[in-house]
Amino acid sequence: MRGYEYYKPGTIEEAIRLMTSLEDAQYIAGGTDVLVLLRQKKIKPGHIISLRNIKDLAFIAHHNGLHIGSGTTHAEIERNEIIRRNYSALHDATSNLGSVQIRNVATIGGNICNAAPSADTACPLLVLDAGVTIAGLEGERKIPVDEFFLGPGKTVLRKGDILKEFVMPLFGPTTGSSYIKHTRRQAMDLPIIGVATRITISIGKNGGELRCRDILCTIEDVSNLLARFEDEELRCEDIRIAMGVVAPIPMRAKEAEAALKGKIISEKLFEEIGEIAANEAAPRDSVRGEAWYRREMIKVLVKRSILRSIDRIIRPDDMVYPERLW
Ligand SMILES: Cc1cc2nc3c(=O)[nH]c(=O)nc-3n(C[C@H](O)[C@H](O)[C@H](O)COP(=O)(O)OP(=O)(O)OC[C@H]3O[C@@H](n4cnc5c(N)ncnc54)[C@H](O)[C@@H]3O)c2cc1C
Repeated sequence: MRGYEYYKPGTIEEAIRLMTSLEDAQYIAGGTDVLVLLRQKKIKPGHIISLRNIKDLAFIAHHNGLHIGSGTTHAEIERNEIIRRNYSALHDATSNLGSVQIRNVATIGGNICNAAPSADTACPLLVLDAGVTIAGLEGERKIPVDEFFLGPGKTVLRKGDILKEFVMPLFGPTTGSSYIKHTRRQAMDLPIIGVATRITISIGKNGGELRCRDILCTIEDVSNLLARFEDEELRCEDIRIAMGVVAPIPMRAKEAEAALKGKIISEKLFEEIGEIAANEAAPRDSVRGEAWYRREMIKVLVKRSILRSIDRIIRPDDMVYPERLW
């Protein structure tokens, strides 16, 4: 016997009314987190309210930026060509989350509302300056995603609230982003740490963009690549760096961002950025990795992710992965 009543409202308003009128109710979207908790008897709700019949929650729209409904599955995001090209960090996260079966049912809203420090879509949403629309009993409110998390498993959502959609701005062709999930296994593993970056660049010298494309084709090692970037006056106009599993909530490395913004990229600066980001983090020991190891890997992954983001600006249709050089 399942021991709970199951509801399938068709609208957001109906779901909120149900949730606020019932004592011990739980929303469910794809159920990949909720069902695990139910099985492990960590939660025992008397009522489960499914959000899957609410059409207004499942969509991807491109007008004045990117809008993603909270009920959109990771598989739908992974397959979207505009997201792959212009919001690549989100594509990286959704295409490597769980398994195909998980991605087909699990939603981006569930990933964020579950508020695990390891949630793969959190860092990409942070670097893509995502805003969150929350629908509640008293109407809608909008907040930046970095104000959404309060602690592991804790968010700003109040009783009855539904996370409705994520909104991200438009980014131009000189902006690129990436997310690197560092795991023990290639598939079906949560990150030991995750790092996302988004960078906007300008290239100083004549014909710089084309010459940079040539450089990326012929690089032999990373220090050579960074020296050439410095030669070409490749400048960081804007930067976002976000790290997951290095603190109770996914966080921005704001000091590292400030140290890079407006500067010409060089090997020395690159080393400094990794160090600064590692010092901003507060990782702890866990079964997946020790704190010292996480801190060391931040230094490596921040640099790798920035290089991959630059690579995507210069060669949007190729996968060179310059970071494989070290
Ligand atoms: C085998 C397996 C592998 C996994 N691998 C990964 C992985 O690699 N990376 C990763 O990040 N996660 C992973 N997960 C965790 C999980 O799949 C994701 O967090 C997923 O995105 C959750 O989405 P869901 O729709 O299934 O959420 P659900 O389980 O339905 O809900 C999760 C929580 O969010 C709440 N909720 C859902 N939608 C809303 C909404 N719109 N408004 C308000 N509250 C809402 C629910 O009440 C619940 O508290 C894995 C899980 C499993 C079982």
